[in-house]
Amino acid sequence: MSKISKERKITYYIGMGMVVLGFILFVSFFFSFVESMKTFEPPAFLNAVIGMILMIAGALVSNIGVRGAAGSGLILDPEQAREDLKPFNEAKGGMINDVISNIDAIENITNPQSQKEVVKIRCRKCNTLNDEDAKFCKSCGAAI
Ligand SMILES: [Zn+2]
Repeated sequence: MSKISKERKITYYIGMGMVVLGFILFVSFFFSFVESMKTFEPPAFLNAVIGMILMIAGALVSNIGVRGAAGSGLILDPEQAREDLKPFNEAKGGMINDVISNIDAIENITNPQSQKEVVKIRCRKCNTLNDEDAKFCKSCGAAI
């Protein structure tokens, strides 16, 4: 597995922090808006605008943290972009493998015929594997 650099992790957390801060500012605008209905003072529109900008900028910054500067298209460097996106694609590949192994498991449950073939009985005389429902060994003919 490729490692995501410490700088990118920090960038990601800074971005997430900006989103949270922006969200708080945005919510506080609604409270000031409700308050302004009673006091007839102008609501803090600036809070809403700053909050919105912070949320958008924070989402971009955290995205850069996840995909890396080149991977997110901030720097035009295809070679670096491939390197930056490596952990990202490996994670995706892992998920696809999980899905495939799940499909295999479902196949075994929904298709008992294929499961039956797996069950074999070993002949006590010659150790040949025989079908579960076999009466005689297919190799030496001994009764099972
Ligand atoms: Zn046998």
